[in-house]
Amino acid sequence: MSQAPKTLHIKTFGCQMNVYDSDRMSGLLEVQGYRLEKDIRNADVVLINTCSIRDKSEHKVLSLLGELRPLKQKNPKKVFGITGCVGQRMGRTLLQRVPHLDLVMGPDAIDRVGQLVGSVLNEGKRVLDVGFDTDRKRTYSQPSVIPRAKPSEFLTIMKGCDHFCTYCIVPFTRGREKSRPIAEVIQDVEHLVEKGTKEVTFLGQNINTYGKGTPETLAQLIEAADRVAGLERIRYVTSHPRDLGDDLIAQFGSVSKLCPALHLPFQSGSDSVLKGMSRLYTQQQYLEKIEKLKRACPEIAISTDVIVGFPGETDADFKETLKVLAQVEFSLVFMFKYSPRPGTRAFAMGDEVPESVKDERLHQAQVLVHQILDRQNKNLIGTKTHVLIEALDKKAKHFSGRNPQGKIVHVFNAGSACIGKTIEVEITEANGSNLRGYYVGALRAERNQPFVSATSFS
Ligand code: SF4
Repeated sequence: MSQAPKTLHIKTFGCQMNVYDSDRMSGLLEVQGYRLEKDIRNADVVLINTCSIRDKSEHKVLSLLGELRPLKQKNPKKVFGITGCVGQRMGRTLLQRVPHLDLVMGPDAIDRVGQLVGSVLNEGKRVLDVGFDTDRKRTYSQPSVIPRAKPSEFLTIMKGCDHFCTYCIVPFTRGREKSRPIAEVIQDVEHLVEKGTKEVTFLGQNINTYGKGTPETLAQLIEAADRVAGLERIRYVTSHPRDLGDDLIAQFGSVSKLCPALHLPFQSGSDSVLKGMSRLYTQQQYLEKIEKLKRACPEIAISTDVIVGFPGETDADFKETLKVLAQVEFSLVFMFKYSPRPGTRAFAMGDEVPESVKDERLHQAQVLVHQILDRQNKNLIGTKTHVLIEALDKKAKHFSGRNPQGKIVHVFNAGSACIGKTIEVEITEANGSNLRGYYVGALRAERNQPFVSATSFS
């Protein structure tokens, strides 16, 4: 009698890169016969794909592991694995600290996940694989694994980072920059499009330098992707202000499939804090890039990251951050309190800004950003935009997707036939977090249906 397939649950913390890595691991394991299981309690294999960018993220992972212990006590055959950056950073210590953990592996071991989980299941071993790709070649390949494709998909085109921003753990957990060849990436794009993907977001920690050490560049990759028939939209993250060259900026005005949206972290408005962070640009240089982007593409939406409370940040420094936030009017801002990470250069600078001051600064920045976004989004009421519908929302109240600028739009009169299609939507309501409106192509009678009242708009 054949055995029932093993079931798999993957829980993901962190960035889009981790979401992509989780999809990749599930794809690799599905090819080996594993079946996805939504309920963590019922899965034979549980992988927790982790992020160590902040202290808080690591604590979350450790406390989740504690909560999961009773499941292992109930079923000792259940496999628990930690993957990703916490696995890479803590390695053996994690296996020593958590007796019910079976597997610890880093991001470079992803393509070996089947073999590693197999060793736990078949040989009863506790497995550690935090091996690092130390090959100095500037290129790498990864086998194509595309079991299914959503309307909008991420695709990793490079790994690692050659910058050493003083607060960042990434170069220590993901190594130096290496890029996949354009031909291999384009093959993946074509496979995704064949399966129904319309929008692809290329991923890299420092994506502007894609192809470094090879004759290939990000601009060339974008041109090649622009030629893929059936692909409608191209995006990429994450850019570094110093490495965003004029060729890439010009493409926002010339490559038709490149969305008018860019994530360009500025982290701090203060030149002395930027120096302490080793970000390699000044406020003025950052603002000049923004000007160039807006000249190349007036409708471009720029999102960003901000850190408050970096060691040495004074009130005057923080005011410079507020100044940039007010001046640029970003389309989205990810804001964080500084979190010292062991192993980074900033760790030795201490954590001198008191937590209460960090909280207050974060609050001030959030209030400002919320006001800007609220105003920005409300200005869009009455306009029309094109939305790639990705899914029905969890409460089945509306369909959701993004417009070219990357804004989330809820559409109440679209049907499931719209999933995977780009439709024209008239914006009728907005708040600081999202937009909502009607599918212009739908029947007039449908348009007149009342939908969720403004008071329940969240
Ligand atoms: S560029 Fe980004 S990934 Fe690289 S070290 Fe700086 S913050 Fe980290």
